[in-house]
Amino acid sequence: MATATLFNYSPGLSAGDDPASRPPALRRIIIVGGGTAGWMTALLFARSLIGKGVEITLLESPSVPTVGVGEGSTPWMRGFFDLLGIEEAEWMHYCHATYKCGIAFEGWSTKPGFERYFHPFASMLDNLTMTQFVHNVEARINGADVHAHPDRFFIAARLAAGRRAPKARESFPFDVWHAYHFDATLLGQFLHRKAVERGVRYKSCHVTHAVVDANGAIASVSTREGETLTADLYVDCTGFAGLLIDKALKVPFISFADNLFNDAAVAMPSPLAGAIPSETVSTAMKCGWAWKIPLSNRFGNGYVYSTRFCTPDAAESELRRHLGLLDADVAARHLRMRVGRVARPWYKNCLAVGLSQGFVEPLEATALMFIQLTATVFLEFLQQGHSSEEAQERFNARMNVHFEGIRDYIVTHYKTNSRTDTDYWRANAANTKLSDNLKKLYAAWMAGKSIVPGVRAQVIGQSYPVVSWYALMAGMGIFPEAKDLRPPTPQEGRYNLGEIDDLLDRSMENFPDHRHALGHIPARSARPAMQLYLW
Ligand SMILES: Cc1cc2nc3c(=O)[nH]c(=O)nc-3n(C[C@H](O)[C@H](O)[C@H](O)COP(=O)(O)OP(=O)(O)OC[C@H]3O[C@@H](n4cnc5c(N)ncnc54)[C@H](O)[C@@H]3O)c2cc1C
Repeated sequence: MATATLFNYSPGLSAGDDPASRPPALRRIIIVGGGTAGWMTALLFARSLIGKGVEITLLESPSVPTVGVGEGSTPWMRGFFDLLGIEEAEWMHYCHATYKCGIAFEGWSTKPGFERYFHPFASMLDNLTMTQFVHNVEARINGADVHAHPDRFFIAARLAAGRRAPKARESFPFDVWHAYHFDATLLGQFLHRKAVERGVRYKSCHVTHAVVDANGAIASVSTREGETLTADLYVDCTGFAGLLIDKALKVPFISFADNLFNDAAVAMPSPLAGAIPSETVSTAMKCGWAWKIPLSNRFGNGYVYSTRFCTPDAAESELRRHLGLLDADVAARHLRMRVGRVARPWYKNCLAVGLSQGFVEPLEATALMFIQLTATVFLEFLQQGHSSEEAQERFNARMNVHFEGIRDYIVTHYKTNSRTDTDYWRANAANTKLSDNLKKLYAAWMAGKSIVPGVRAQVIGQSYPVVSWYALMAGMGIFPEAKDLRPPTPQEGRYNLGEIDDLLDRSMENFPDHRHALGHIPARSARPAMQLYLW
């Protein structure tokens, strides 16, 4: 069995205690951009580098707003705050944050019994139910009539259905890995304050351009306020603008438009009262999907769609209707998305982090995780003294492979849809522009073979572990038609689902109501980091 990487990435970074590990050339870092990417990077860099005498300055334009969306995370965010020693109680209250057990997908599949499924975040308890899940799924792909919908097998799905928080009593021996929802603007403000407290310098100024030297590296950045600033490393966190990596250095951008059709979004809040859900809901719409994210004081909503199939006005009307806000006086925000990645996120003396590095649409809320990954792996390279061109190529290859693994997982949601109501969904189902890795995985599944070896062997498995691939394919009901199923053999039908129900039902007693838990967030648990064996 392999340890899941997605949920449990523990960066082996030292916190600034070894001056020798700083590359001699690195004295000053300029981060351009004060969105979530800029501040997350600043905090991670500050933790490792400020103690070694490196000066970190973040420049933020007073006239360019942040993207202002991005209110869901993956479980990696827990690792981010743990690493920085920031308590949940402190940041969650400030950001109206809630716990997230996973994502519910509604209406993506039309197959009877599979109209809704839940993509769970992992739990140690899953070690007791994963074998049965994979066994049943594989039996069903081969035509056996056994239960194979993922929701029955995972504690996270039950917690979300019961509006419970994924925070077990201390006496309960199993940890549940969880993520968060939060107000993106408040999170930015919180991270800003923390970074400045930890020694990051801040300048409000608009960078007009970067000067490129004869070697093709950045020599300085110039501001509208009349300053010219220099550094040894420039971090581009300017969002979709890509001011340094794209506009100045002209690093090519690789579009994913062939694989992922969505290129726009419209967002608006809605009121929240009563119980607070602990899941993101992703509902299939006519030309994309809508997110519903519960914060402690409101819902954040948005419709991610493709402008090839739908106008912004039509998208806004459809979202308003979906939310029951057709006549409400609630402002909508319209955004365009550049989906794809730069060819080289680390180029010469510039590192692109966040939307400037690339974006896979937000279906699985992976962007902040990728910011964390990029900044952390970059620091690992620095600490190992690796900054040569060859090291840059290795770094870029690692980031790009991971990025494309996430893309392939997202693409699979669209490819496996069974809706036929609009051209959008039909075009997605008919799309043959899949990566070779994804084609292989898909072909194995359709041929009734286990995809466990494929996920493990391919780089695709670095981005999403087996549990996620199985939850997606089984959740969408990618099985033989119900009429073609046959009774299972004794071997195929050997697991008793009643036992799984009992185990999960008894476990539920250890988890509090979500709203109640948010009012009583405990100090960080002394529980050791969870080890997950997720196939
Ligand atoms: C519709 C949508 C939904 C999303 N949902 C999620 C989600 O659920 N989960 C998730 O993880 N991610 C999500 N994301 C992605 C997430 O919002 C971003 O990855 C994250 O906010 C980081 O953005 P950023 O900091 O790279 O860019 P931005 O927030 O755009 O920040 C750019 C910064 O650069 C500054 N800047 C720009 N130009 C200049 C200049 N010339 N001089 C100085 N400063 C400048 C701006 O002032 C700003 O501070 C979503 C994105 C979109 C579009």
